[in-house]
Amino acid sequence: QKYTEQDIRQMVQDNQVEFLRLMFTDINGIIKNVEVPIDQLDKVLANKVTLDGSSIDGFVRIEESDMLLYPDLNTWLIFPWGSEHGKVARLICDIHMADGTEFAGDPRNNLRRIVREMQDAGFTSFNIGPEPEFFLFKMDDKGQPTLNLNDNGGYFDFEPVDLGENCRRDIVLELEKMGFEVEASHHEVAPGQHEIDFKYADAIEAADNIQTFKVVVKTVARKHGLHATFMPKPLEGINGSGMHVNMSLFKNKDNVFYDQNTKNGLSQTSMYFLAGLLDHAIGMTAINNPTVNSYKRLVPGFEAPVYVAWSGKNRSPLIRVPSARGAGTRLEMRSVDPTANPYLTIAAILHSGLEGIKAAQLPVAPVNRNIYTMDETERHQNKIYDLPATLHNAIQALKQDDVVRKSMGEHLYKSFIDSRELEWAAYCQTVSQWERDQYLKRF
Ligand code: GLU
Ligand code: MG
Ligand code: MG
Repeated sequence: QKYTEQDIRQMVQDNQVEFLRLMFTDINGIIKNVEVPIDQLDKVLANKVTLDGSSIDGFVRIEESDMLLYPDLNTWLIFPWGSEHGKVARLICDIHMADGTEFAGDPRNNLRRIVREMQDAGFTSFNIGPEPEFFLFKMDDKGQPTLNLNDNGGYFDFEPVDLGENCRRDIVLELEKMGFEVEASHHEVAPGQHEIDFKYADAIEAADNIQTFKVVVKTVARKHGLHATFMPKPLEGINGSGMHVNMSLFKNKDNVFYDQNTKNGLSQTSMYFLAGLLDHAIGMTAINNPTVNSYKRLVPGFEAPVYVAWSGKNRSPLIRVPSARGAGTRLEMRSVDPTANPYLTIAAILHSGLEGIKAAQLPVAPVNRNIYTMDETERHQNKIYDLPATLHNAIQALKQDDVVRKSMGEHLYKSFIDSRELEWAAYCQTVSQWERDQYLKRF
């Protein structure tokens, strides 16, 4: 425990905090918050702030809607930008039922359940280092996002100072003020596209960080007159935005993915874990890529994975083993995009990996050549299968994967399937410009 109740009271005083934002995440990964004036602090700390669960997507029906916010004191943080009415701090909360029990439909509680499972299996932490990518678009004079990018830069470009460059630097500065350790920040391959990588953290903290990160990026971008979006594929014909997930499993100080006695430095445990990820990669796609638009990114030619395969050399497959060894030994899952609910994604990844360790099966051989030059027969001979190509197919695959289902628990599983099926049905009823361009004159 980093902070006690006393610490929180002290920090409120020392910093003249006027408002508290109580944050949590709904099933679709959307950050929700309730803001309370600081005179409610006692109530907050006593876990007595209530919430109408029936108005939150995927939570509960109206009859059981009174829920409680239990702040996690370790997530205390003061927003550096403040407001004209005083400083604003936030606490991330767990959702509890009116009787005090943990609410199973809260993605953060659910991740904690999977973390306990990991501890029962003898491990102490699951470190996650995310690589979120996003686009910066110019806004019009009404403050609405346009599709105009603010630069023509490319990968690692050292452009003359442009809007995006300044904005990204500002984002990094704000993140650092909030205690983030930013490891890298660079222009991505597509114009207007950026990536900021921050230091790994243990499962729950990492998911919290991802959510906070998105708030910071959007807030700072707005101040620069730009709209930041984590939509996976805002523009066709250029790269989309992913959120690669680097992961390693620890037993106290030891990274159990590392073994100095093997030829490649990778432990047997890491191979079992990897096998678990490969086995459930298709089943967890709906979680990692939960929007209709996610599948516009998972197509050949834009550095996003399309097939289930792994490699220690090649950068293109679904799972890559970066070259670092020792404490930095890790697996990188490259299919995830930033619309994923990080609590659900990390739970699905961790649970699948732990199942892999239990099953103790080695994965198929790595693929070190370009998969995109193989035809389907050749891919199948090498046991390389396709990721689902649409949200619909991904939902069907999830329904067939009991392991991934267990990583969510029944409540979350049911609400998630309902919510994704509704989204797919809504999309199916739309008629796009592409269709009119194709058919209006031709038929
Ligand atoms: N933007 C690419 C994607 O959609 C990833 C590029 C990279 O390797 O960082 O996943
Ligand atoms: Mg990248
Ligand atoms: Mg990467």
